[in-house]
Amino acid sequence: MSVLGQSPRARPEIQALGAYRLAGGESAPVKLNQNECPHDWPEEVKAEVARRLLSRPWNRYPPLDGRAVREALGRSCGVDPEMVAVTSGSNEALLALVQAFACGRRVVLVRPGYSLSVSLAVVGGAAVQAVPLREDFGLDVPAMAQAVSDPDVALTYLASPNNPTGVAFAREDLLAVLDAARGLVVLDEAYADFAGQSLVLAVREHPHLAVLRTFSKAFGLAGARVGWVVARPEVIAAVRAALPPYNLNLFAQEAALAVLAYPDLVSARVAQVVRERQRVYRALQRLDGVQPYPSQANFILFRTPLPAPVVLQRLLAHGVLVRDVSGQPGLERCLRVTVGSPEENDRFLDALARSVTP
Ligand code: PMP
Repeated sequence: MSVLGQSPRARPEIQALGAYRLAGGESAPVKLNQNECPHDWPEEVKAEVARRLLSRPWNRYPPLDGRAVREALGRSCGVDPEMVAVTSGSNEALLALVQAFACGRRVVLVRPGYSLSVSLAVVGGAAVQAVPLREDFGLDVPAMAQAVSDPDVALTYLASPNNPTGVAFAREDLLAVLDAARGLVVLDEAYADFAGQSLVLAVREHPHLAVLRTFSKAFGLAGARVGWVVARPEVIAAVRAALPPYNLNLFAQEAALAVLAYPDLVSARVAQVVRERQRVYRALQRLDGVQPYPSQANFILFRTPLPAPVVLQRLLAHGVLVRDVSGQPGLERCLRVTVGSPEENDRFLDALARSVTP
């Protein structure tokens, strides 16, 4: 029995975090708040996954380390399967990397940036140092180089394209940070398919680079929770040691393997999102008082004349759910909208036009 019958307290930094939650709720007729793919997988592909699941024993553990998925990913990325680890979403990969490399040490990341990266670094036991981006949301290379060259910095986290800004960092800026870093550099390429640029093959020459990828965005498989890390075998061995065994369940493994067989469908969907991104961006530019920022991801950051929570609620009244990102430094009155299907985008643009007039 604990003192006075009370539950023990969690670490203070965990108590301060609280559980992950989404302002505006989890669903809406037009759901554009989580950068998901607007299209579900065709019924035939789902049926194929269901058939495979029916033929597998559910009383047995799934294949260890998602072997077949690692092999398929290795082939599609052009690296050896020993350079790939699969995880339950790329968030799990980031947590494992922090735990393996940075527990009790320091993580450098950028602001504005992916807010969950801060929480995962804290949960993984690291101290966080945030380096501000330039005003155009590009990397401040001298400031970054100085921060990451400190021997106390065990891990540097960068997402490119960055979330919520949508900016893909210049390749030479990323390489400059990589050259200056003493610890591991984790490059999160969750949105790289929409930017058409990747540093995945640079892991061959850079032993301290780990690239994160996910099935949640371009692959349209957020429900299955599958992500992967590409890095040199020594780094992958550390990630796998830090992960609980059998982290990727049977359904996740089968779903990932199934969708990897449809690269043409994935690229056609990515191409549609890229076209729609351009159309939505131009339409936002034409809206009085609204300032959109150029994006290379599947979402657009925009500023409005009104407080972001007011715009969020007004859009919700029209059935449109976006993300309020105004809490981050430099993003006052900013929201982020996922590029959806053409119909969803039309509904969003129409709802926004009605919501930003005072
Ligand atoms: N990285 C970034 C930069 C993201 O924005 C997101 C999605 N919110 C993720 C990772 C999450 O990926 P996953 O679903 O693979 O955990």
